[in-house]
Amino acid sequence: MDETVVLKQVRKDIHQAGTIGDTEKQRLQETFTKRYSQASTIVDEQKVTKYAFKPSGRTIWAVTGKHGEQQVLPESLYCTCSDYYYRVMGGKKQVCYHIIAQQLAEALGKYQSTDLSDAKYSDITSKWTPRPVQADQS
Ligand SMILES: [Zn+2]
Repeated sequence: MDETVVLKQVRKDIHQAGTIGDTEKQRLQETFTKRYSQASTIVDEQKVTKYAFKPSGRTIWAVTGKHGEQQVLPESLYCTCSDYYYRVMGGKKQVCYHIIAQQLAEALGKYQSTDLSDAKYSDITSKWTPRPVQADQS
């Protein structure tokens, strides 16, 4: 089944219930296997952060995984990590574990919130853009 469909459905169920029930856990486990375990650990360790910028109201979601902090765009289910770049763009899968972690954290309300002024926006985002090109090194 479509990974993003499962993730969105489960996210909605979790949000309504306020917790991850056994049915949702099972679906996540079956669909994402190892990625769900990784995402679950990140959520438990409160490694998902929502940056809210004032006064613009812009928000950025960041997830700290094995290789540092990555930016996740929840609307487009996009992530800045290399796993997303190589495997998701390559069509092997649809979401990386950062995206799963962000979706679960947001649904559960289990994340850190940081308010920042708009002046900090480029400081925060500059580490994710441009994407480091590692594969081109010969
Ligand atoms: Zn990722």
